Amino acid sequence: MIRTVSLWIRINGKFSQPLYKDDKQTRLKPQDGEYYLRCAGKWYPVGNDPLLALDAKAAKEKLLRAVERGVAESEALPHLNPPTEETRLTVESAINTYMTTGKAAQKDWRKHTRQCYTLALKLFTESCQKTYVDEIDGDDLRVFKVFLRKQKTSIGKYIDPRTVYNHFLNTVSFLNTYKLRDLISQNEWPTYEEKKVVAYDPEVLAHLLQFADVDETDVLEFFLGVNFRNGEGAHVEWPDINLRTKEVKVYSKRERYDWQVKDSEQRNIGINDKLAERLAARHLRHPGNGLVFPNSHGNPDTHLLRIIKNVALRAGLNCGQCVGTHQRKRMSCAEAPVCRKWILHTMRKTWASFQDRIHTDFATIQTELGHSSPATTRKYLAAQDHNSPRRRQQINAAAALLDTLKVE
Ligand SMILES: [Zn+2]
Repeated sequence: MIRTVSLWIRINGKFSQPLYKDDKQTRLKPQDGEYYLRCAGKWYPVGNDPLLALDAKAAKEKLLRAVERGVAESEALPHLNPPTEETRLTVESAINTYMTTGKAAQKDWRKHTRQCYTLALKLFTESCQKTYVDEIDGDDLRVFKVFLRKQKTSIGKYIDPRTVYNHFLNTVSFLNTYKLRDLISQNEWPTYEEKKVVAYDPEVLAHLLQFADVDETDVLEFFLGVNFRNGEGAHVEWPDINLRTKEVKVYSKRERYDWQVKDSEQRNIGINDKLAERLAARHLRHPGNGLVFPNSHGNPDTHLLRIIKNVALRAGLNCGQCVGTHQRKRMSCAEAPVCRKWILHTMRKTWASFQDRIHTDFATIQTELGHSSPATTRKYLAAQDHNSPRRRQQINAAAALLDTLKVE
């Protein structure tokens, strides 16, 4: 019996004859798929390179002839059964694996990251109704982009372009894990305007502090003094603060609070003398080894920012132009503690900008902010605020150049 070898290509789960550039079938047209040899009812995967696939076919034919002549025996390539409907991966089970034993487990994602991916992939399956992973193509991402832009928040506003981008990015990184890469080009991705976070003025902060009571001042001075993120402030406990060496340490607290530090970066941050005194006084008022800023139930207060927003309203420091949700009602920041000007991220930015103004070295600022990449820190410091004494001097010096010319 003379056996023949045929070459096949599998694209999006379907087998077909590959396309040749010439009638003699010596050169293949470029196609995106996996090549297979088929011989005597068996399938042999031979990769996705057209040249290597043709080589593999020639080698297999040579081997078959040698077997027929009795100078070689058996198979030289591993074979497998062709993929069937049962072995095709469904989108549903891919997501399931990804979120349980897959990437989420390998990278030990913290709760927040997990929630972000879960939501993004849920939206993707609402937008893309395909059953199998190998059916997904660039058009599904194009449709998804438009679908995301139509999504609304719980208060009926369209979701932020940055959120659209994040959902899209998370979905693409899920698809990448299943070897679906570069489905659409980078310039088709959703875009967003990077928000510029400008540090608070020292004068504005001094004014703000005048309107805070003792406990509120503790919160304000703590965040200004140690650059903590919201979750870090909410989970700090008294034993984390060393009032002798004047430092505070940040680390994940999984068992107690199911909470992890961003980027898994533990760090120690120095506390200024004034803040150390303030914390010592607070510890006398609120003794024990528990949380430094608990909520009324003794749990981590994940809304410490509300405290700051309340003081800002009282101090008359809201912009008066934004609208937010307060006690389930949409209210202007002129009359409710909802002003978007007051966010913890800006507190962190302010900490960094103050450090920069007094010329603290870059590496120290990066380490203490807990940034794993210097690029993030550079971005923090790049937007040097226009009211800094150094920048004011530069602005005026530049203008003075023109004045000199005018006189002459
Ligand atoms: Zn406002």
